[in-house]
Amino acid sequence: MLLTLTTTHEPATDLGYLLHKHPARCQSFTLPFGQAHVYYPEASATRCTAALVLDVDPVGLVRDARGATIRQYVNDRPYVASSLLSVALARVYGSALNGRCKDRPELAQTAIPLHARLAALPCAAGEDRLRRLFEPLGYAVTATQHPMDPVFPAWGASPYFTVELTHTICLDQLLSHLYVLMPVLDGAKHYWVGEEEVEKLLRQGEGWLADHPERDYITQRYLKYRKALARAALSRLTTPDEAQDAEAQDAEEAAVERPLSLHDQRLDAVLEVLVQTGATSVLDLGCGEGRLLHRLWSAPQFTRIVGVDVSHRALERAQARLRLDRQPEAQRRRVELHHGSLVYRDRRLTGFDAAALVEVVEHLDPPRLAAFARSVFGEARPRTVVLTTPNREYNARFETLPAGQLRHRDHRFEWTRAEFEAWAHQVAEAYGYTVDIRPVGPEDPALGAPTQMGVFDRRPASPNTP
Ligand code: SAH
Repeated sequence: MLLTLTTTHEPATDLGYLLHKHPARCQSFTLPFGQAHVYYPEASATRCTAALVLDVDPVGLVRDARGATIRQYVNDRPYVASSLLSVALARVYGSALNGRCKDRPELAQTAIPLHARLAALPCAAGEDRLRRLFEPLGYAVTATQHPMDPVFPAWGASPYFTVELTHTICLDQLLSHLYVLMPVLDGAKHYWVGEEEVEKLLRQGEGWLADHPERDYITQRYLKYRKALARAALSRLTTPDEAQDAEAQDAEEAAVERPLSLHDQRLDAVLEVLVQTGATSVLDLGCGEGRLLHRLWSAPQFTRIVGVDVSHRALERAQARLRLDRQPEAQRRRVELHHGSLVYRDRRLTGFDAAALVEVVEHLDPPRLAAFARSVFGEARPRTVVLTTPNREYNARFETLPAGQLRHRDHRFEWTRAEFEAWAHQVAEAYGYTVDIRPVGPEDPALGAPTQMGVFDRRPASPNTP
């Protein structure tokens, strides 16, 4: 089994520091089930590749030779990426997997161009499943499925893929994605799955698993469908009382803003823009409990309405608000609700006329804003994006809000008018949109309006672009 990692970050040979393996040496490691070897087929200043070869001894894998069948000796284990390779990764690239790098600590925390190639990854569930696991994490995925036997095409396709993953990402993140997802795709695990596996999953899944759209699938497969373990892991992934907290916090925000019934004004303003654009298909990203969805649904112009939220609980409430189960089929078909996170690429969000993001951006951690902008403006790319966010300057006018406090406890920031304008123009410029910023709610002569709304329109593709 062969896994290669390539970088074009310069100097590329820094990969040696990141992996704690000198590019000029070949090193071998003894594992309980065979040998691992690391060497560098190429190591120049502009491009460097580290190869990890795992030489599994199938005889060593058979714990009890008495009564062992031929299948226990002759199988795909030595040749494919599986939980054995995850164990080898942890053993051979352990420091890198944990983000430690003595000589280049800052580099370990830097996203660098990386390319991983897995010579053979078993994925009986097919290429779509493979993509649904890696693409939301931002990877460009190339998957080549191999025939069962090249000499006998009639035997059809095998479940084995050569997979290439390309991304600009920190090395420890890439390694932890592989560590978790290889055994998820392979399905088989070579060891007993117990409590310890929950800890490993949560540790290696930190920072990405909780809001991965396939979180439940990954958790269940990683834990081999052991229900109690999966339940324990999932309850820790949806941070404690996240849902109930969210409700209480929303109520607080509503109380601060109530004298203006600002939320209604905002939703009306967004709806009006969406209606005027003539859009028929519309995304409500971070749809929450579905207040905007409900308004969109009442306007027959919108024939395809898709709400997306990272919170299961919010989606359940949206579903209840829309009473979808009681609607006639034709009406029901107009609306879809998806669980997903806006900081990851999601192919389900492409091909829409418009997208609304009402009071969502301020819930994202600032380091995730670039990924958010890429996925909404760079990948989903609707013709129009309408985005609202609080104007922090106006907070001084809210009588019940203590000075300096944000309107909602989950707000990671609130922008001044200048800050929002700067961000909006930078994003518009980067992704080929124009932006018009408008006030929502009563304007204070000095402080502006309580809500700021950016209306982004995609520029027509220039005739010179292919
Ligand atoms: N647009 C709704 C809800 C706003 S509250 C309304 O105006 O009523 C912000 C919403 O964004 C919450 O429902 C929260 O779950 C969701 N959210 C936060 N981070 C997200 C992410 N990364 N991806 C998708 N939704 C997210």
